Amino acid sequence: MGLRRTVWCGEVQASGVEVTVAGWVDATRDHGGLLFVDVRDRSGVVQVVVDPGAAPEVWEQARQWRGEWTVAVRGLVRERSAANVNPKLATGAVEIVPAEVAVYGRARPLPFQLDGAAAVEETTRLRYRYLDLRRPDLQANLRMRHRFTAAVRAHLDAAGFVEIETPTLTRSTPEGARDYLVPARMAPGRFFALPQSPQLYKQLLMIAGLERYYQIARCWRDEDLRADRQPEFTQVDIELSFVEAEDVMALAEGLVREACRAAAGVELQAPLPRMTYGEAMVRFGSDRPDLRVPLEIVEVGADLSGTAFQGFAQPLAAGGVVRALRVPGGAALTRRELDALTAEARNRGAAGLAWFLLGTEGEPAGPVAMRSPIAKFLAPEQRAALVERTGGAAGDALFLVAGPAPVAATVLGWLRLWAADRFELRRGAWRALWVTDFPLLEWDADAGRFVAVHHPFTAPHPDDLALLAGEPARVRALAYDLVVDGTEVGGGSIRIHDREVQSRLFAALRLSPEETADKFGFLLEALSYGAPPHGGIALGLDRLVMMLAGADSLRDVIAFPKTAQAGDPLTGAPAAVAERQLRELHLRADAVRT
Ligand code: ASP
Repeated sequence: MGLRRTVWCGEVQASGVEVTVAGWVDATRDHGGLLFVDVRDRSGVVQVVVDPGAAPEVWEQARQWRGEWTVAVRGLVRERSAANVNPKLATGAVEIVPAEVAVYGRARPLPFQLDGAAAVEETTRLRYRYLDLRRPDLQANLRMRHRFTAAVRAHLDAAGFVEIETPTLTRSTPEGARDYLVPARMAPGRFFALPQSPQLYKQLLMIAGLERYYQIARCWRDEDLRADRQPEFTQVDIELSFVEAEDVMALAEGLVREACRAAAGVELQAPLPRMTYGEAMVRFGSDRPDLRVPLEIVEVGADLSGTAFQGFAQPLAAGGVVRALRVPGGAALTRRELDALTAEARNRGAAGLAWFLLGTEGEPAGPVAMRSPIAKFLAPEQRAALVERTGGAAGDALFLVAGPAPVAATVLGWLRLWAADRFELRRGAWRALWVTDFPLLEWDADAGRFVAVHHPFTAPHPDDLALLAGEPARVRALAYDLVVDGTEVGGGSIRIHDREVQSRLFAALRLSPEETADKFGFLLEALSYGAPPHGGIALGLDRLVMMLAGADSLRDVIAFPKTAQAGDPLTGAPAAVAERQLRELHLRADAVRT
């Protein structure tokens, strides 16, 4: 290499000094003989001006340059004339007058223009990801990600945590998603699984006496990818011994606060609010409430008791609820929209969706009046109570769902977010909270058994232990989720450290003793050698950084992400392999679609 860089492009400042910059040709402009070249490196852009009269040899070379060639320029920094100053550019007051230039690499015409890349089809961008990543905004995202992980490491190191790597070739773990499997050449017919999380290893590290572990851990889940999931993703994985839930939450809260501040200058509220799962479901109809939306669901069953309207009376008589959501501005919804909402509410399990559009009677300041096909079934006091309970005013719509509490919660929870989109109701950002006291188990109708809400190593609330055999649905878990703006960004729990309790839990999940022994025998065995009480959490690194970066997709904060088909257009993975490789692995491929 001939010329060696002395300064980053974006940091060229003082005039009158000689510098050498190196980077990519960002743009060239020929202004009647004067040639302007913007040279870009990871720090920014600087302008180079070549005057054919003053430097004919340099000009001869530089006029050949095309976009994205790699070049170097040695020259004198001078102030731009007042008319040419560009206040939008960090180096906009100066330019380089070159004395010597060099070319390191020529570039073919690019498959897409970098400044228009956001509009280019994503498969093409991923096929040429090394070009896509030249875009300053993607580079800024990766730097923000680095600042986040650097802050995580510094914070946890200062708190006495040890960063430990756990295996990626392991056995199938029970997070509930499909595993990525790796055939084992040395053990024909057997497979490793890539870990869905390091959950069991981090518990084993606690039993091993490490006490404070963390890992920036890669995890794999072979799921059909919804819009913003990746088959491999990264979590900040943490585990501590001799702690209670409060300790883990306090640690994680301090960590996330510090990392958000360091990476993006985002300040989280201190301390973060807490809400139980039960309260979140009643008030927001979700276990990850979006607190940016200033709407709450309210119980109105008591106000409607004795109603003749069967749509309310029957569910109430059956022990169900009637809940209401006030939507400001909702009186402007059209009949079509109301019908569509009703259809969607039914899709989501509700028997129907009752709506009341609020207006005024007579003069604008008059009493609130209701428009609704079912208003006539309600007594005047009931209508008044409904308006009062919900805080309704002219211009609002009230939506009511009657039925079992979980159905009312999910339908109104969905409607709340729909209304937030439709009427642009979200206010502020980074509204974080802890959701606690999740149920330990939930009924899985397809499987015909209870399954763990978090994972089967989560400790039951000690007060609820007696319910495990008889009323499993009522057992609370010592689990907590960190929620930001309606997204779960972290979750964890206190673990079971008692072998006997762990066995009881496996039994509640209807795992046979053989299955338990086969899959989790090593855990039960380890638990019988003096296990400390322990707990931890995993934070979704990709998602947190995506939110900090204001990006729309996880792919914008991952250097080499996969497509929605879980492929990598750049390397062509997944790809066919040679027959010989398959034979070595004792495998036969049925068919390879090309
Ligand atoms: N291993 C869990 C998960 O990945 C998190 C935890 O409990 O620490 O969801």
